[in-house]
Amino acid sequence: MKIRRRFTPLEACHKIIFRKRRVLRRRRPLTGFTIKKREQARTFVENRISYFNKFYNFNINRIAIKNASTRWGSCSSKGNLNFNYKIIYLRPELADYLIVHELCHLGQLNHSGRFKALVSKTIPDYVKINKELKRTNVKFI
Ligand SMILES: [Zn+2]
Repeated sequence: MKIRRRFTPLEACHKIIFRKRRVLRRRRPLTGFTIKKREQARTFVENRISYFNKFYNFNINRIAIKNASTRWGSCSSKGNLNFNYKIIYLRPELADYLIVHELCHLGQLNHSGRFKALVSKTIPDYVKINKELKRTNVKFI
């Protein structure tokens, strides 16, 4: 499936687009089920971030769990980290990589060699995992 929307280079990496975008594009009101899942996602994400941030010690402003977005995750220069609640459906290795990816943007808001060095501190085989992500239903842009 082609991705029609184009992103500016700065926001580029953070947009991990679902190939099955139409599934996510439909915005539905949060049901009890989804709220529960979102809270599960929040607990999961917060636990993994506090684990990985022991290695990095970045200042995190806010962690938000979003619904019905085309993104898996994003990071802002203000230190806000956002994750799609559907991260809980990913294999743990893939979810960890997404978390570390966004976390490391607090140190480097780009995809430079320095950024990759940060990621590899805790996910040494991130290249392999990145390839695996591309084989699944998600895509980095
Ligand atoms: Zn990125």
